[in-house]
Amino acid sequence: MTASVIVGRFAPSPTGPLHFGSLVAAVGSYCLARRAGGRWLLRMDDLDRPRVVPGAADDILRTLEDLGFSWDGPVLWQSNRSEAYGAAMERLRLQGQLYDCACSRREILASAPHPGEEGPVYPGTCRQGLPAGRAPRAVRIRVPDREILFADGVFGRQAQNLAQEVGDFVLRRADGMYAYQLAVVVDDAASGVNQVVRGADLLGSTPRQIFLLESLGLPVPAYLHLPLVLNADGSKLSKRHGDDASPLAWSGGGLLCKALRWLGQPVPAELEQAPPAEVLAWGAAAFEAGDIPAATEIAVPK
Ligand SMILES: [Zn+2]
Repeated sequence: MTASVIVGRFAPSPTGPLHFGSLVAAVGSYCLARRAGGRWLLRMDDLDRPRVVPGAADDILRTLEDLGFSWDGPVLWQSNRSEAYGAAMERLRLQGQLYDCACSRREILASAPHPGEEGPVYPGTCRQGLPAGRAPRAVRIRVPDREILFADGVFGRQAQNLAQEVGDFVLRRADGMYAYQLAVVVDDAASGVNQVVRGADLLGSTPRQIFLLESLGLPVPAYLHLPLVLNADGSKLSKRHGDDASPLAWSGGGLLCKALRWLGQPVPAELEQAPPAEVLAWGAAAFEAGDIPAATEIAVPK
């Protein structure tokens, strides 16, 4: 009997320098993979080109190296993966699961009966074919009217009915770009990732990703979502805002200790002054998933 090796990953978006929220995801995914004797991969989620900041990817890689992280194999760049995303789309199309959609965002907002947690629920306008005289914009996938269930390693049992809470969702956007949901599952599966550790802002995306994995006949990984880091004033430390995503103001072992404590890990005080690699080694040996606080959001510690 062979136990399968844990394969974790960290997948930052190069939309700015690494901030504390991303670092927490890096530390959590790294320690959980290494603690299990597993592999830890690095991927650049640079699919959304208009949002990519030149130089940010190199900056993130340098910061991770300075903090003592080492990853297995070469970095995977989503910007090089269009062929794989296209092949996955083709398979879903052949299975009859996709359709063209002509709706603009404004039309969807106007016709959606109620906004779901994940934004307006697509009302299915183009499900039976494009309205007369309308040109296709995006490509959507039909979702089932049943609950998708999974057990999150931190948040426990999760359930979402895609038809009622999300609606048929976009896999290729009007600007021709593949959707993040598709890219993530295709890349994780291609890399053999079987443990996804990331911020709780993606908890609500997970059922869509599980549905895509099942539709593509791909294995579903284990999921652990980490509480989101908020600014001291309670606002979201989001990359999308760009302005409030403060770059890391500290460096070295002390910073890693802070990230580990934030994840509920009892780091010994003497490690504050230790080199980063030593702190990570402690995390790789002692990290306990059960100690991660199951809170959706926590303000960044002082
Ligand atoms: Zn439509």
